[in-house]
Formats: sequence, structure tokens, C-alpha cells
Amino acid sequence: MNCKEVKYKIISNEVSDDKTLENHFKNCPECESFQAKYQASINSLKQGKRTVNDDFFYSRLKAKMENQKQSAGFIPQIKLAYVSMLIIFAVAGGIAIGNFASNNLESYNELNQNMLVSNYTNDLSDNLFTIE
Ligand SMILES: [Zn+2]
Repeated sequence: MNCKEVKYKIISNEVSDDKTLENHFKNCPECESFQAKYQASINSLKQGKRTVNDDFFYSRLKAKMENQKQSAGFIPQIKLAYVSMLIIFAVAGGIAIGNFASNNLESYNELNQNMLVSNYTNDLSDNLFTIE
């Protein structure tokens, strides 16, 4: 019998005259403690333990719920503002990074072109001189 079947038997209250359950408990402390906890909670229910009646419970609950309703309307607005601010910063940052990179790349390419041209013309002129 596996743990699932054992727990099902415990919950459906088929524990009393079952040797297979006791055998399972010997090898499975988890099911044994489940059985103990289940039995303890059933016993406390049978003893009829109840909370003391609180006349102001409803009015306090109602006030709490109204407070939550008000703050619930407020918090999502802050969240929305915060998230849209993040998105704006992210987009602006992306544009800035893109501009910076492309500007630098352009100047880098220009620099390389200038160097290439000057080196090439130098070579060319050197060669021209040597040919002569
Ligand atoms: Zn078990």
C-alpha cells in the first residue's frame, strides 16, 4: 500500500481495524505523523472548541475591507507610473547608447579611412619616388 492510499484511508476514517496501515506506519514516519495530526485536529473539532463571539468583528472587517479597497486603488496607480517611468528610461537609455555607439563608430571609421588614405598615398608617393 503506498502513501497516497494510506492517507486516503486515514481521511476516510478506515483506520481502526487495519493492520496494513500499522505496518505502513512502521516504515513511513511521514504517514504516521499525518495520521497523528489528522486525529488531533478531528479530536479538537469534536471537543467543540470555537472562537469567542466578537460583536465588533463584522464592523472591523468591513472597515478593513474598505481601507484595502482605497489603498488598492492607489497602489496600482503608483505601480503603473513606476513601470512606465522605467520603460521611458529604458527606451531613452537605449536610444542614447545607440547614438553614442553609432557616432563613435562613424568617427572610428572616418579615422581609419583617413589613416588608410594617408598611408596609401605615402606608400604610393614613396613608390613613385623609388620608381623614378
Ligand atoms: Zn507513507
